[in-house]
Amino acid sequence: MLAITNIVVIGGIHSKHSEFVLELLRKALAYVRDHINAEAVVLLGDIGDVDEIQRFLDSSHLRYFVVSENHDEALSIRFREGPIIAFLYNPSYDESLRADFIVSGKGMEPNISNGVPYITCPMLCESPFKMLHMSIAGQDIQVEEVTLKPNEFTGLQDIHVHTQFAYCSENMEINLTVERGKLFGLKNMVFTEHSSHLYFERQELRSNKVFEDISYLRCARNRMQLYKEKVSQVRSDFLKIGLEVDCAFDGSPMLLEEDMEGWDLLIGAVHRLPCTMTKPQSYIIKRFLDIHELFLASGLVKVLAHPFRIFRRNNLSTPKELYKPLARLLAETQVAAEINFHANFPDEEFFRLCLEEGVKLALGSDAHNLFEVGYLLPHVKFLNSLGVDPLNCDFLFSLNHS
Ligand SMILES: [Zn+2]
Ligand SMILES: [Zn+2]
Repeated sequence: MLAITNIVVIGGIHSKHSEFVLELLRKALAYVRDHINAEAVVLLGDIGDVDEIQRFLDSSHLRYFVVSENHDEALSIRFREGPIIAFLYNPSYDESLRADFIVSGKGMEPNISNGVPYITCPMLCESPFKMLHMSIAGQDIQVEEVTLKPNEFTGLQDIHVHTQFAYCSENMEINLTVERGKLFGLKNMVFTEHSSHLYFERQELRSNKVFEDISYLRCARNRMQLYKEKVSQVRSDFLKIGLEVDCAFDGSPMLLEEDMEGWDLLIGAVHRLPCTMTKPQSYIIKRFLDIHELFLASGLVKVLAHPFRIFRRNNLSTPKELYKPLARLLAETQVAAEINFHANFPDEEFFRLCLEEGVKLALGSDAHNLFEVGYLLPHVKFLNSLGVDPLNCDFLFSLNHS
């Protein structure tokens, strides 16, 4: 088998094309980093006016080349022993350009390429926000467009989005988030703030105290009302409101009874276990199942956020013997399983078991940064590899509309 070299080409990244240029680039590069094993990224266009882009590229740890739109320059690269590919912004061809394939930043007339196969790179900054993924194997080049906003998005619901109320928010802001959700053409989006962040001070969450004793909820600082007020102001057919309810160590939802009503959706998450993760695996497995059993049986939450992420967070591999029992438990309690890629890589094997058990799948970006809003492309690819049509309601969790 020939080794495959992956190259990503991104065009149209000038701030004149979109005010969201930096976010689009971050989104694109996040996808390149996590889902395409790219040898290099080639940027076609002028990024000189945005220092931030340069800084961001430098910090992305990706090998990258920039072909500026201001010069009639071409960059010719041979990746391994493969064909020579010329990248240029302006469509021109001269005899000195020796290439087997040409990628240009602007549309190209057939006669200009002088018989050399060519392709024009799409604009990242124009909806539906595309880039090129080139796979090179030997002398063969396959080119695929990667669309950050595929058609399926019109039917998708992002059931997990944070706000500025999260302590882990990087730059979230309610109105800006709604704007981006609409830009990406999602069907719905739900604000689901951490219940523990709304009740407690950041400082109080550093220890396990408030997870150990649920009665602390009564004397909490409590920003719940303020959060509800703020998100209610933007509540609409598009924007739904809810919470990511934390699970206390006794398995009960960290939510006061008076705060249980009035939401479009409550999702639940087990962010901590009532044992240290250095305990023997059999012990951790038991505690994991016990706490999920109690938490899900409460009937409060409709979706379990990022199942098993707790293991990754603690640098442990997920015990696969938990897959079947958790899938069964979700089926019994009719709670959906969330596909979540935020610092997380869901395992297909678990989600296949969920489908077998009749558990619905929910899609969550778990956005903590504005560039992550509408980032459901990994989810769509994941569903495709499970053989599930992203628009098929038989398999996907759906918010009930009034
Ligand atoms: Zn979470
Ligand atoms: Zn979250």
